[in-house]
Amino acid sequence: MDLTFTEALSSEDIKFFRGYSLKQSNTFKIGGATPLAIFPKNKEEAVFVIRGLIEQGIPYLTLGNGSNVLIADDGTEKTIVFTSELTQITAHEEESYVYLTADSGVKLTSLAKAAADQSLTGLEFAYGIPGTVGGAVMMNAGAYGGEISDVVTETLYVDETGDIQICRGNAHQFGYRRSIFTDKDFIAASVFRLKKGNQEEIEQKMADYMNRRREKQPLEYPSAGSVFKRPEGHFAGALIEECGLKGCRIGGAMVSEKHAGFIVNAGNATCRDVRELIAKIQKTVKERFGVTLEPEIRFIDS
Ligand SMILES: Cc1cc2nc3c(=O)[nH]c(=O)nc-3n(C[C@H](O)[C@H](O)[C@H](O)COP(=O)(O)OP(=O)(O)OC[C@H]3O[C@@H](n4cnc5c(N)ncnc54)[C@H](O)[C@@H]3O)c2cc1C
Repeated sequence: MDLTFTEALSSEDIKFFRGYSLKQSNTFKIGGATPLAIFPKNKEEAVFVIRGLIEQGIPYLTLGNGSNVLIADDGTEKTIVFTSELTQITAHEEESYVYLTADSGVKLTSLAKAAADQSLTGLEFAYGIPGTVGGAVMMNAGAYGGEISDVVTETLYVDETGDIQICRGNAHQFGYRRSIFTDKDFIAASVFRLKKGNQEEIEQKMADYMNRRREKQPLEYPSAGSVFKRPEGHFAGALIEECGLKGCRIGGAMVSEKHAGFIVNAGNATCRDVRELIAKIQKTVKERFGVTLEPEIRFIDS
């Protein structure tokens, strides 16, 4: 690691750690270390950090809550920039809408709660998705018929050359679990367009979605949520279940008994265990149904 860069971080009083284990920073609780983990405390600091990394040619990756990633057992050579301290939410009204601007590190559940507290409707679907705004915009997260693309109007980001950009409307190029953003972009904040609604109804919807999650998902185990994207015309979980793979285990990785679309860390699972189990599921489903299952989770391995 280039010492001049970490010296610059120190002189700006920016929090960083060398040789940082990533195991506790993702919901699978799997993975090795990064040579450098940086925790900017606000957007301005984050932009300074990202631009510094780009200038120095240091490979980097941003992580929000780590709820959609599988990190290699021997970690990554990349510097990891965490958004956990970027947590500001502001509101403004325009015509019949209220716009919430949320930093990329804001948890979706906190944002949905903040919206509900102001009687704003549109984000109920996001309540209970254990990710951050940045991860959700990157992945166009969705649930229960709603998607980030329904509500996000603008995103402030740093592109791979270090320029600050604003992406508006269709320029996000949202699709099923994808957007225009790549691993080299740093999403700093997004604007959510919401409407005034009935607070009781909003809160009831959120409680209902949360109950459905608790009932259907193995929240008692570490996981990264649904492992595979929904194949056209099918549900990944149903195909996996029909192959009799519920409970199938490799090392500490297991196909959830509760929801076959989830692989859980049933105890000391390694990345290798999970990857082998993914390969086994893909092979079995392909042979039985001719359907290719494409992972939704992101692999971080170099
Ligand atoms: C129990 C459980 C339930 C889940 N349910 C759902 C669900 O219902 N719907 C759904 O869509 N997903 C679901 N997920 C998956 C996950 O929570 C979402 O994809 C979430 O949006 C990921 O956000 P994150 O902050 O954790 O992203 P991370 O896992 O930290 O990162 C995901 C990707 O986004 C990138 N990224 C993160 N932040 C930024 C940023 N600021 N700038 C640029 N790139 C960034 C990362 O580099 C990575 O490529 C679930 C996961 C779990 C564990």
